Amino acid sequence: MHNIESYNFSGKKAIIRVDFNVPLNKNKEITDDTRIRASLPTIERVLATGGSVILMSHLGRPENGPEEKYSMRPLVAPLAKLLNREVKFADDCIGESAVRMSAELKAGEVLMLENLRFYKEESKGKVEFAQKLAALADCYINDAFGTAHRAHASTTIIADSFPNDSMFGYLIDGELTAMDNVLYNAKHPFTAILGGAKVSTKITIINRMLERVDNILIGGGMTYTFIKAMGGNIGNSLVEEDLLDVARDVLKQAAAKGVKIYLPVDQLLADKFDNAANTKVTAINDGEENWLGVDIGKETIKLYCDVIKNSATILWNGPMGVFEMDNFKAGTVEVALSIAEATKNGAYSLVGGGDSVAAINQFNLADKVSYVSTGGGAMLEYLEGLVLPGIKAIRGK
Ligand code: AMP
Repeated sequence: MHNIESYNFSGKKAIIRVDFNVPLNKNKEITDDTRIRASLPTIERVLATGGSVILMSHLGRPENGPEEKYSMRPLVAPLAKLLNREVKFADDCIGESAVRMSAELKAGEVLMLENLRFYKEESKGKVEFAQKLAALADCYINDAFGTAHRAHASTTIIADSFPNDSMFGYLIDGELTAMDNVLYNAKHPFTAILGGAKVSTKITIINRMLERVDNILIGGGMTYTFIKAMGGNIGNSLVEEDLLDVARDVLKQAAAKGVKIYLPVDQLLADKFDNAANTKVTAINDGEENWLGVDIGKETIKLYCDVIKNSATILWNGPMGVFEMDNFKAGTVEVALSIAEATKNGAYSLVGGGDSVAAINQFNLADKVSYVSTGGGAMLEYLEGLVLPGIKAIRGK
């Protein structure tokens, strides 16, 4: 397996699978260019070492072939500005224009292809389609971690056309290093902080973490399935009735493995799911009819922050409460601040999963933790131990 640092790009055309699935407003202006900026180191590495770059990505979910509103064209000028060089555009990712323009591409030049998902063959992982993309270039770089769990033509199948010339870009490399750090090289005490709405979407990761961590801190809506399972009164808080046995089993497994599971001891209750709701703090078992839990309470914050500050490895996935609403964000803010403090004192911290990333960004703490994963579903699957086709396609070679 090659890597982007050692590969000789001189005189080569590199086709790079990037994640340029950025939000656009009505005027086709990019409202958040994080994903484009995140791809720059990989693109610049190829250009700086004598290669040329062909960029391919999806944008949105076009259902029936080419659709103007999903065109990649509005991304050309912003990318050119970020790279400070011209970016050419082929209005069909495998058509005549793509073939001609990539053939004419010279060292240091950049070509962007039109949306891959204008072809159904992309998501279906069709070999012929992947081969047409591969034919445009001399080597393949996958730098789209967010789609690495999909066996699509551009994320997985295409690697077969480059048995000796496929590699990860810096983004995926960074994600894998960060996740492998917590999965295989964790220093102890290792604490996983798991929050968010539901147990059901986190159960596999909870089970896998039971094999690795010393502490699990539970927060957010998923708390209440555990509390109800243990006989507490949860009032109108979120609950998954069908998972009460699963919750009991997690607690039993944890005890057997010597993992300490922390559940909140107190909570902020609201009389409606609204930032302007009336609120009060109660013990966690004292939920009330017509009130729902929206954040962890002060005692819990203190308890959790102490555990976090004494940890050497920290994985955080999922908010402690309804952090999108100002009055219910205190628990999530304090946990994020403690992770930042622990990191400053030498702990390794990985934050991942859509909502914890949104939270850490909202609190301006992204640069105070060791790594913020942009992977979402792909990150969860990797941590759960599933094989990601896009990773295997390159690592397996
Ligand atoms: P997830 O995608 O499962 O990580 O869940 C994130 C969502 O869980 C966020 O939108 C939070 O607002 C929500 N959430 C966190 N705590 C609670 C709670 N106590 N009740 C309802 N929703 C919650």
